[in-house]
Amino acid sequence: MKMDQSTRMFQEAQQYIPGGVNSPVRAFKSVGGNPVYIARGEGSRITDVDGNSYIDYIGSWGPLILGHAHPKVLAAIQETAQLGTSFGAPTERETEMAKLVCEIVPSVEVVRMVNSGTEATMSALRLARGYTKRNKIMKFEGCYHGHADSLLIKAGSGVATLGLPDSPGVPEATAVNTITVPYNDLDSVKLAFENYGADLAAVIVEPIAGNMGVVPPQPGFLEALREITKQYGTLLIFDEVMTGFRVARGGAQELYGITPDLTTMGKVIGGGLPVGAYGGKREIMQQIAPAGPIYQAGTLSGNPLAMAAGMTTLEQLGQPGAYERLEALSARLGEGLADNARKLGIPHTLNRVGSMVCLFFTETPVIDYETAKTSDLERFSAYFRNLLEEGVMIPPSQFEGMFVSLAHTEEDIERTITASYNAMKKLK
Ligand code: PLP
Repeated sequence: MKMDQSTRMFQEAQQYIPGGVNSPVRAFKSVGGNPVYIARGEGSRITDVDGNSYIDYIGSWGPLILGHAHPKVLAAIQETAQLGTSFGAPTERETEMAKLVCEIVPSVEVVRMVNSGTEATMSALRLARGYTKRNKIMKFEGCYHGHADSLLIKAGSGVATLGLPDSPGVPEATAVNTITVPYNDLDSVKLAFENYGADLAAVIVEPIAGNMGVVPPQPGFLEALREITKQYGTLLIFDEVMTGFRVARGGAQELYGITPDLTTMGKVIGGGLPVGAYGGKREIMQQIAPAGPIYQAGTLSGNPLAMAAGMTTLEQLGQPGAYERLEALSARLGEGLADNARKLGIPHTLNRVGSMVCLFFTETPVIDYETAKTSDLERFSAYFRNLLEEGVMIPPSQFEGMFVSLAHTEEDIERTITASYNAMKKLK
């Protein structure tokens, strides 16, 4: 595989950008080799600067549920840009977007736009603390909620990929207010509530974990979180930055029928432009400035181009059959990947919820971060590199899921299954 241009670009980038990249997992550190530099994308495919083409299952780490360069999204961005790119003053589209989100996401009555998932979770936590007048929060090991200080603790994703402990630079005084417990472990949750319940402002959870690979909630887990938070007057925050508008139009809360107090969103909501949002019960959200005293702001929040891309994406997802198609494609992919591993006698566990798909190289059922870590990471790295050679791009980390989009075709999926077979065969 030709990589000359990518290699040259990465060498130059390392002189000017820390590690050569603007977000750590892009550097391919855990899978070895240099990152591939992308020249363009269309539909389900991306092409690198050396002319190699791949079926893409990163989808910009989740936002591109319609695929790359979707014509309607591009047209919306172009038309909007003609009128100016940013005003820092209200536009009607922001209300239209907010209205649409309130219609789609069951728990959201009022919503505030921000610029990333990190901003969304950070702001939701400040709101929860301000509203409850409590300091502590609970999160789950291996769940990633962006890189705000109080959430960068046992945080899965890139931190797990790089094998880092919790990040230096997070003050101890901040870390002591974050209680971490294993995902899907209700006994630990109960114990933590017995110890800290009266001080807990919020429990924040990925309702389907997607940053330690894909780990679904066990039956009853989310229900129990809803119940115990209510009992203690603690807010329940669903971080749906990854699951929102993906596992169902109304996210995991629609899929499982559970209503959190606050919801954080990102990725799909921006249609490939930088957007995040947080929303929830009116009574709580009204505490945000200028309606209430809890401060949160943003120069580019509600940016016209981002709203245009996001709204168009959400509207397209409202077309009949969109989620049925995603489910059918993803189910076939999941079955195909698992079948290959079975045929070749490779120990594996396949976890999937809708279009979030993850193949772990372990026979242990993966239900939390500890079990996710039983995956054979060297085997994953070799599999990743073999897949690249076969023209398939999956996330360069075992602790991330593959994302299927509406641009993937049945043929793409069959090709991917064949490519995966070839990539796995070389592992033996
Ligand atoms: N929350 C979850 C569940 C995520 O997966 C991510 C990013 O991967 C974030 C928050 C942070 O979002 P962003 O990278 O847009 O800051």
